[in-house]
Amino acid sequence: MKPLKQLVSIEERAIAPPSPTDLLLRRAVQAIASYFHVECLLWTSLEGEPGESRVYGSPGAGAMLHDVEVQPAGVEPAAPHPADCDADSDTEQPAQDEGAIACYVPRNFPAWLIDQLDAPRLTQLETGDLIVPILAQAFDVDGFTPETYSGTRGNLQLLLQVRRSPQDSILSDPAQDADLSSTAAIAPPLGDSADVNPLKGWTAHDVSLIKRLANELGLTYSSLLWREKFERSQRQIALMGRIAHLLNSGLETDDILQQIAAELGQGLMGDRCLVMRLQATGVAPVAHWERSQVVLPALEHLERSEVWQPVIDTFLDGGASYLTVRPDASSSSLQHWLQQMGATSALLIPILIQSDFFGAICLLDYFKVRWYALDEVQTVRQVGDHTAIALASAQHHHDSHRQTAALRLQVMVPQTPLRDSLTQLLNAEAFDQELQQLSRPALWTVQPPFSLIICDIDYFKLINETYGYSVGDQILSQLAQRLRRQLRQGTLAYRYGGEEFAIILPRTSLTAALDVAERLLNAIHGHPFDTSAGPVSVTVSFGVAQQDPRGDRNARSVLQRAEKALQDAKRQGRDCAKGLEFGLGA
Ligand code: GH3
Ligand code: MG
Ligand code: MG
Repeated sequence: MKPLKQLVSIEERAIAPPSPTDLLLRRAVQAIASYFHVECLLWTSLEGEPGESRVYGSPGAGAMLHDVEVQPAGVEPAAPHPADCDADSDTEQPAQDEGAIACYVPRNFPAWLIDQLDAPRLTQLETGDLIVPILAQAFDVDGFTPETYSGTRGNLQLLLQVRRSPQDSILSDPAQDADLSSTAAIAPPLGDSADVNPLKGWTAHDVSLIKRLANELGLTYSSLLWREKFERSQRQIALMGRIAHLLNSGLETDDILQQIAAELGQGLMGDRCLVMRLQATGVAPVAHWERSQVVLPALEHLERSEVWQPVIDTFLDGGASYLTVRPDASSSSLQHWLQQMGATSALLIPILIQSDFFGAICLLDYFKVRWYALDEVQTVRQVGDHTAIALASAQHHHDSHRQTAALRLQVMVPQTPLRDSLTQLLNAEAFDQELQQLSRPALWTVQPPFSLIICDIDYFKLINETYGYSVGDQILSQLAQRLRRQLRQGTLAYRYGGEEFAIILPRTSLTAALDVAERLLNAIHGHPFDTSAGPVSVTVSFGVAQQDPRGDRNARSVLQRAEKALQDAKRQGRDCAKGLEFGLGA
């Protein structure tokens, strides 16, 4: 990995400021820990998998996570956030107190927390930790009435876990304490008078206070959360609007893709966004955007061909609609790839043009482990669909443009520079131009492979010697007519040598092209040409090759293969058609 140049500007921080909910939770942990002299953990985002939730902890609260496997959220040691690296920077640093609050990503939930998800209740663990659930609907200031606690799963929005050190404990009724020590976790009789406090080490006053605090925190948190969600969805609606506008802008496909990458990258606050053509053999970025305020590692590890086949399989066979990659204990090849890229998170969304797999949109983060919210993933998926529409229409344009060009060539008046005067077929120069065109497809095209047929008259020297050159000319001219008559309108035939012809068959497999060659052969074999010297029979040999989009560097190498196949046909007695697969007979 190339060393990251750690640059940051004030604009960069303005683009991705710490979220208000994040700040609120850090401040809450800080305040509770210092006011009550406790270590404090605050569990958030509990509605999904453990990996999607976060735990904020006061500086000494890490020990409370002894049965939970965690990884730090946010700043990764391998790729620090630029804002944290520039010690001399005069950008505003987070207040010391909030900065001291750790944020973890749990990989598992402890058993007591799973119980809380099903039936949240104020309780005390065997460890003495006080557990204060904060429900999404706990609007009652006193809270913790049986009604508010009969919430369904998903209702639990925050969970406070506080531990008081033994010397700070103020023991309540010793009789109650004896009772408490006999069971693992005890729920207090809810709604009871605040004077009767069965919680070990806590005064009734403190418990009442912490309950009120928790309730206030819950209210503030949920209103901030809704505001964040609302703002995010407003941004996403605006983003989709801009992309729809883009598709209707008449811009070139390359520019549209480039702008889609930029809109997505900026809109979702990523560090880099790629639209990639993805094949088992490799990957080609067709559009690339990166945040201008940071310097990111070069894309040299994007290729890694062993990564892409499983990704394609996951999308095509597995039907996955997206893939996220984050550093994880399990080391899949994708995680290894991410590490090599120097990135910390990736989101991959497939681009399917109808049912053809084109590639993927890839959003990359380099300075933080990123968890995409469901609505963000949905937005990228919609953009993936829009990208497919842009590509399909570009493809359609490309095809119809080619077809029009082909038809124009076909009806072109004789004696134009690209037409052969003897046969009226397109000449060697036109053939050469077409080969060059085929060698330079736009990156975004999903061009099915073409096939090439070349043919050469057998023993033509002998024909000339026997009947004279002018009879030879008559045969050439009639043979050209026969070839044309056998071909579909729009399929072009070329006279690219003295008695050598070529036919380019777009979107045609080798087998289908061999069938065409066989048809042409049968139209010549056994059907003598009507010449001034009487009927003259000739035979023709055919060489056929199909383009291999992965193996062929350009259309010339397809021609070379067809020529090899033709030599085979000649060697094997002439008057036949031979095909050569890529990788054979080279
Ligand atoms: P093979 O079966 O191996 O192809 O034998 P061949 O005799 O056809 O050999 P080759 O293809 O090398 O011969 C090409 C001949 O085509 C030589 C040349 O005299 C003849 N030829 C090339 N252009 C023209 C043309 O415009 N008119 C006529 N009548 N003959 C041509
Ligand atoms: Mg020849
Ligand atoms: Mg010949």
